[in-house]
Amino acid sequence: MPLPNRHLTSVLLRREGELFLFDAGEGTQVSLRALNLRWKKISVIFISHTHADHVTGIPGLLMLSSQVDRDDPLYIVGPPRIAEYIDSSRRVLDMYLNYEIVVQEFTAPGVVYQGDGFRVRAFPLRHSKPCFGYVLEEDMRPGEFYPQKAIEAGVPRGHLWAQLQAGKTVEAKDGSIVIPDQVLGPPRHGRKFSFVTDTLAFPDIADEVTGSDLFVCEGMFEEALSEDARTKKHMTAQQAAHIAAAAGGIRKLALIHYSPRYTYHDLKLLLKEAQIVFPHTVLSHDRVLFPIEYRD
Ligand SMILES: [Zn+2]
Ligand SMILES: [Zn+2]
Repeated sequence: MPLPNRHLTSVLLRREGELFLFDAGEGTQVSLRALNLRWKKISVIFISHTHADHVTGIPGLLMLSSQVDRDDPLYIVGPPRIAEYIDSSRRVLDMYLNYEIVVQEFTAPGVVYQGDGFRVRAFPLRHSKPCFGYVLEEDMRPGEFYPQKAIEAGVPRGHLWAQLQAGKTVEAKDGSIVIPDQVLGPPRHGRKFSFVTDTLAFPDIADEVTGSDLFVCEGMFEEALSEDARTKKHMTAQQAAHIAAAAGGIRKLALIHYSPRYTYHDLKLLLKEAQIVFPHTVLSHDRVLFPIEYRD
């Protein structure tokens, strides 16, 4: 439930100026407003499951988004019944929308959204109703560009450099062909973001989130309440840390979706328990910002 200083679960991801939202608990628009981003133009809303604490923020978001003009549709991606929820909200609330909404339900894991230079994959979690985790993965990037090698190959500074950097073959001054491999280092990885909440802890999650630059994961309870977590089909902060440690290659674990029993001060206990297992753990809180840098 929301607390005076803690709204419900939602993560806004900004990539190359484009905005993606993962879950939208009650009051999400209040927090988005405070961020001062162009949030009324969110491209896609990904929903983990249709429990109230993850979707009741959607109607308000949809209505306020009508305050700006947009040509592109808003995509809402989620498990079954999300379309029913959106449709009934629109109908009953007589919602006026000046843009198109495309709701895409899925039941099987796999790629659920493909963008320019990245894709989003969904994978099943274990909760009291169908629930999915999401991974956004960028494509591989070209390797580092070595100007000296280009000059040596007979390609002087100029527009041809940009073509080589983009992975295109060019013709040198002497007419010889220069391929990108001659002037570029090995291809570099893109970034990876994962979002997992409302689930029992189980090993498959680690396989999905491996190598994430940022892994946002539920850390609802302290270890002393692990039995509670199990019966309610949630996980403890330390279980999230075990997943992060087992996954390998995770740069940062950000805990989210805390039980309302914990005050801001109490959350330090959850953090401590998680850090014993995975030191690169942080607590997320309302409007905290985590930059996701390239590794190389
Ligand atoms: Zn739930
Ligand atoms: Zn929840």
